[in-house]
Amino acid sequence: MATTKFAIAPMRAAQVTKPGTDFEIVEREIPKPGARQVRIQVQACGICHSDVLTKEGKWPGIQYPRVPGHEVAGIIDELGPGVSEWKTGQRAGVGWHGGQDGTCLACRRGDFRNCRNLKIPGISYDGGYQQYMVAPIEALVAIPDSLAAAEAAPLLCAGITTFNSLRHSGASPGDLVAVQGIGGLGHLGIQFANKFGYRVAAIGRGAENAALAKTLGASLYIDSKATSAAEELQKLGGAQVILATAPSSKSMSELIDGLGPNGKLMVIGITFDPLEVTPVQLISGSRAIQGWAAGTPADSEDTLRFAELAGVRPMIETYPLEKAAEAYARMMSGDARFRVVLTM
Ligand SMILES: [Zn+2]
Ligand SMILES: [Zn+2]
Repeated sequence: MATTKFAIAPMRAAQVTKPGTDFEIVEREIPKPGARQVRIQVQACGICHSDVLTKEGKWPGIQYPRVPGHEVAGIIDELGPGVSEWKTGQRAGVGWHGGQDGTCLACRRGDFRNCRNLKIPGISYDGGYQQYMVAPIEALVAIPDSLAAAEAAPLLCAGITTFNSLRHSGASPGDLVAVQGIGGLGHLGIQFANKFGYRVAAIGRGAENAALAKTLGASLYIDSKATSAAEELQKLGGAQVILATAPSSKSMSELIDGLGPNGKLMVIGITFDPLEVTPVQLISGSRAIQGWAAGTPADSEDTLRFAELAGVRPMIETYPLEKAAEAYARMMSGDARFRVVLTM
């Protein structure tokens, strides 16, 4: 009989057994890290709308059972062979970027964010809806001491996506930047945009989020139910950037006419419906539409450091791991204020 160096004790995980089925809380053996991998004792894992890809089987080639979760914060508790860059006891997280192949054309050009074979925690391998997970070292993010695990977790997908897309959007301090949607992404987008020194217009449906948007750092609020947001933006000279966070292609399309000269619609809210735009809308004013996905672990560390420095924090609702199904339903309802986080 083989002997093991460490006792194998069971742990709990929330897994999806087949696409479209409910979460199951199961006992599993604690995984062992392989070469160039570490094991993380998970403290918190954010629930992201993209977890629907795992829950509903919308990612090509995904294998089941699968444990979702790509907003993971915890403590490294075991190193695999060949790991000298990280220590046990060190705080670490994992976000959307779960590892690159290092060999595709994008990687050879140093553009790891756009790796053709990008690994995604919770899709390519088991993610953070469990007490322990294994991750390759190229996916690891160091977490500053001042950020609580439940606050750091959502910054590793929702946070980095808004921070990184805005800092690469071409907007300069003082520019008019609109943030469409005041939800999981949008409430962070408003805070980052404010701290970057933009003039921030928050766009929401209904008047109820106006006060909150201003507290988060918006200098004005546009109720797109009551008025045409594109017209309102044009009255202000047009937006340099519109950060489109709410997953509605229709609402995003309606905003394109709100862009100023050389303005850019930066799309980060995921939908599967087409955007509607005419060439004339883009040609007049040389406007652009760009999509953006998260970033590398180094970008995540920039996000965390900036959040620490500038006081940007996610607003969260926490649920214990055992209530993963309830927590996921809460995220899907769109009523959460604003990120739902599982704690272990
Ligand atoms: Zn995500
Ligand atoms: Zn690659």
